[in-house]
Amino acid sequence: MKWHEENINKMKSCRFDTIAVHGVYSMQEALDFNQGSIIEPMYMSTSQAYRDSDEMEAALGYEVPTWCYSRIANPSMYYLEGVLALLETYGTGVDASCIATSSGMAAIASAADNLLCVDHDDPDQKMNFVATCQVYGGTFQQFAMRKDEERNVEWRKVINSADINEWESLIDENTRFLYGEMPSNPGLAFFDLAEVCKLGEKYNLPVIIDATVASPALMRPLGYGADIVIQSVTKSLSTSGFGIGGALIARKNIRARFGSDEMKADFAMYLKTLPNRDNGPNISPMNAILAVNDIRTIRSRMDRLSRSTLKIAKHLEGHKHIEQVDYLGLESHPVHELAKKYLVLVDSEFDEQYNGEKVNRYGHLMSFRIKGTAQDTRDVFDAFERIWRATDLGRIKSVATIPAISTHSQQGEEGRKLADIPQTLIRLCVGGEHPDDIIADIDQALEVLDGKKISKSSPEYSAGGASSATLGW
Ligand SMILES: *Cc1c(COP(=O)(O)O)cnc(C)c1O
Repeated sequence: MKWHEENINKMKSCRFDTIAVHGVYSMQEALDFNQGSIIEPMYMSTSQAYRDSDEMEAALGYEVPTWCYSRIANPSMYYLEGVLALLETYGTGVDASCIATSSGMAAIASAADNLLCVDHDDPDQKMNFVATCQVYGGTFQQFAMRKDEERNVEWRKVINSADINEWESLIDENTRFLYGEMPSNPGLAFFDLAEVCKLGEKYNLPVIIDATVASPALMRPLGYGADIVIQSVTKSLSTSGFGIGGALIARKNIRARFGSDEMKADFAMYLKTLPNRDNGPNISPMNAILAVNDIRTIRSRMDRLSRSTLKIAKHLEGHKHIEQVDYLGLESHPVHELAKKYLVLVDSEFDEQYNGEKVNRYGHLMSFRIKGTAQDTRDVFDAFERIWRATDLGRIKSVATIPAISTHSQQGEEGRKLADIPQTLIRLCVGGEHPDDIIADIDQALEVLDGKKISKSSPEYSAGGASSATLGW
């Protein structure tokens, strides 16, 4: 529809917050189709009816715009996909489209599996992909087990992702894509994205970036030359925490050595209309709308949460029971300067409180290492009263986990060593509480190490960590 296209083009000239608030849903659409509803409706429906056989035939042949069946598309899904495509391309001049998925993992699988298709000119090719080893635990398992082990597709691990030569040395004629998570969860690994994208250009390989931790409010990888962005919509984007969701945002005309022209021209739309239609990993309309509603405030939230996290990180840096604080916003962090180049609060220069300047913001994820043993770490963790013990990220409530016994338990001691995740590391994702209250909670928990408090952990409770690990969070 022409007016719809015009509306999207008008949105493109708006600032980030305006796009986040309105997305692709206009007053005209509300009045013409949705009884004037000012909030995007949740279309809880499996399928679309057609006027007649001609319309049905054209719709199912993808000859006319249609949503047909909610495994493929649905208006509520579309509102989420539309706003994310706009936000990820904001200020980049890049044209992209988005497909929403049932989870972040489904988005990663959708991207990777479709770039790992058999090449009919060379059906016996032993494929590989080059990816950072500091990735989310679920991603580690998907790469190590589902691809490398079960499908004989080699995962070539980049150990030190800041070393661009290491990336290049792993690429050969059988490489299908380059993959990186930045900042990584929980290790906050960071690399020079523009340099990795140059390698993608040089070797004609698509670059996939999981930017979940930063969110588009702090970093938009498409603007540096990445081909595909992964978002776990569950995390920073959906602070309320009602449900799981994911998204894949791909530029038009991705680089790739293999695959059809159709696939390369519009990768997200190709996934939507073909492979994901057949594999069925798409998001539910309800989770899509819940996410749309949260995304409206992403910029101001990331600003505030980042400021709180920096305050907490600075406090902990000087604490006698803390061995090390890992936060990209600290000048002591080894890749602080690099992070500074990429993590910028979008539109801060238009925000009066920042006097027309661009400001850096480093997100809500940090970790700290306890000076002590694995058990000391569990004792501190068990003493939190305000901070929730949970494997989650991006919530409006502060949440902490010990990755070695939770998110990253399955990859084993060796895998954790590669990713630098010791047993004494507590990952903290800072929420919207006043930071002083979070500092007070951590301080009182650390007092268990003074012997002032008796540890709350019992052997039964500690064993509980292992059962959650088997579920693979
Ligand atoms: C949680 C997470 C994922 C997976 O997302 P789900 O929505 O839980 O499937 C992927 N990448 C990162 C960085 C994550 O934190």
